[in-house]
Amino acid sequence: MAVGSSAKRAPIQVPCPWHREPMQRLLDQHAQGRLPHALLFAGAAGIGKFRLAQALAQALLCERPAAGLACGECDGCHLSVAGTHPDFQTLAPEPGSNTIKIDQVRRLLEFAGRTAQYGGARVALIAPAEGLNRSAQNALLKTLEEPGEGLVLLLVSDQPSLLLPTIRSRCQQRHLPLPPGDQALAWLTPQTGEREAAALLAAAQGAPLRALGLQDADWFAAREQLAGQLVAVARGRASPAQAGQVLARQDPRVMAGVLYGWLARAAVLAALSEEGGEEGGEADPATVTDPKVEPLLRELAGQVPPIRLLAAARRVMEGRRQLLAGANPNKELLMEQWLLILVGVDASASGF
Ligand SMILES: [Zn+2]
Repeated sequence: MAVGSSAKRAPIQVPCPWHREPMQRLLDQHAQGRLPHALLFAGAAGIGKFRLAQALAQALLCERPAAGLACGECDGCHLSVAGTHPDFQTLAPEPGSNTIKIDQVRRLLEFAGRTAQYGGARVALIAPAEGLNRSAQNALLKTLEEPGEGLVLLLVSDQPSLLLPTIRSRCQQRHLPLPPGDQALAWLTPQTGEREAAALLAAAQGAPLRALGLQDADWFAAREQLAGQLVAVARGRASPAQAGQVLARQDPRVMAGVLYGWLARAAVLAALSEEGGEEGGEADPATVTDPKVEPLLRELAGQVPPIRLLAAARRVMEGRRQLLAGANPNKELLMEQWLLILVGVDASASGF
């Protein structure tokens, strides 16, 4: 019976190595009938939450899951991998949109009211859950409270704070942390080469799948120049307005995440050198750093007190949240306001 079956093996989703254990625990809970009917996988972007949710969905629909994975050989696996399993629904923004609309949720509600066609679990996967607009979230509430027979709802979100509290409270939230640096590097290195792996992982603030996506990013290629702008402002070699213009050539939503990471790292370095007076940095060997950017962040840390670096980081984070919620400010002014904090000027008490 093994003959031929391997040729038809469906390419099932495998979770990232750091999610194998959480996955096994979820399947154990399912086997014991204790799996919550609504799970919210939350955590930083690019750590593999969606893969985990997909792998779990496939394993729940599989007739013979083994070793913490779907088997890839049964009818359930072939249908779920092909996207045609009648007991599996995926909700994602339609092409060209970044929101999940109420009509899509209505289709899900119909699905929720039916019974399983294959007699096993039924699964709905909603990602990114923060893409549900307000009316879509409201429409989903009742199903989260009383899902149909055997229905498991899997929600995936980088920004769970954008979900209605009533949505969050009806799900069991699983916060998935960043993987340990060594595990992330071991996964990344064969795909990017050893030289790039650490730089990419540092640039992605420890999120391995995001790191992989950065290989072709403009800002990543220009990162020395961009981080150098922070140092130039701190040293008085460039005005916040001049540096803001350079930074504004990048997508501000991307740049906000990058700047936040740099400022937060510089704040740590500044605090370490204030405390110990030693070289700093040696105290946290677990942190993966980018050899091209790290010296610049050290220089920044030597120029700006940690409290100011943190204030700037906080402001950038607020701005990022507003940008992700759809705000569309003047890019140069936005960057300038962030940079002004480095020289001790908090220019914006309002909005950004
Ligand atoms: Zn299977």
